[in-house]
Amino acid sequence: MARIISVALPKGGVGKTTTAVNLAASLAVAEQRTLLIDMDTFGASALSLGFTEGSIRAGLYEVFNFITGIQNAIHRTELKFLDFIPANVRSMQMEERIIRVADNRGILRNALRSVAQQYDYVILDCPPFLRGLSANALTASDSVLIPIKSGHFALDAVDRMFKYLEWVREVSHKAIDVEGILITMHEPNTRVTDITVRELKAKYGKHMLATSIPRNTALCEASFYGKPAILYDVNCRGAAAYLKLAREILARNAGHPPALQPTVIQLSRQA
Ligand code: ADP
Ligand code: MG
Repeated sequence: MARIISVALPKGGVGKTTTAVNLAASLAVAEQRTLLIDMDTFGASALSLGFTEGSIRAGLYEVFNFITGIQNAIHRTELKFLDFIPANVRSMQMEERIIRVADNRGILRNALRSVAQQYDYVILDCPPFLRGLSANALTASDSVLIPIKSGHFALDAVDRMFKYLEWVREVSHKAIDVEGILITMHEPNTRVTDITVRELKAKYGKHMLATSIPRNTALCEASFYGKPAILYDVNCRGAAAYLKLAREILARNAGHPPALQPTVIQLSRQA
């Protein structure tokens, strides 16, 4: 049964999509059968994996509206062990509709039941607001991974996330775990970063992950070219950091870290 992890924080531009895409790719490289789902109507993770309107058959939109079953929305990717479900929301009308349908918090959880057996990990890239599609993602999840970029309001956003988790636990009667807080775009020895990290450690110390992601332009370039960093520049610091994150998460959940070998990346024949 897959471990389902939401990548969420009610703030934009903190590295949610970059983390969802690159963590999913790193887990796939470790031969974990992984499914990435784009829960954000903006569709950034589809672009980051090189999907265009023409290469998308169906997505979350069709699944939420019962137009198609979830199996039909699963797309293969360049990586053998990574599958992807795009949001496939292509107009304002579609966006309004999917958000309305998502008022029912249980849709994704129900839809995932039939595919969770096929995967080791399901990673959900959430939008920068809570409720709606995020509520659906969290209701379906075993845990939440909280990426945060150091700076103003960072702590506020994490506080809001934790309050919201309490609410999700109450209304969905579910023990959702915190997978961890991940510092992204880390620039050590800058004043703002040092203060933010200190504040986060003081308040949420036990949830802070050992791995942090450095600021690394190769991560932006990779998404621009529609590839996970590991396929764009396997030697860049960003790719290495996300491999380390995957290893930390695997160790948390399996009790022992596997040896990750980025040199034996398995590419999909169908991609
Ligand atoms: P979110 O999904 O939270 O809105 P994104 O993952 O889209 O955030 O990241 C916002 C911007 O920051 C993007 O342009 C992305 O390429 C860039 N970015 C993300 N992580 C890093 C990093 N570690 N180093 C440099 N740029 C990054
Ligand atoms: Mg995003």
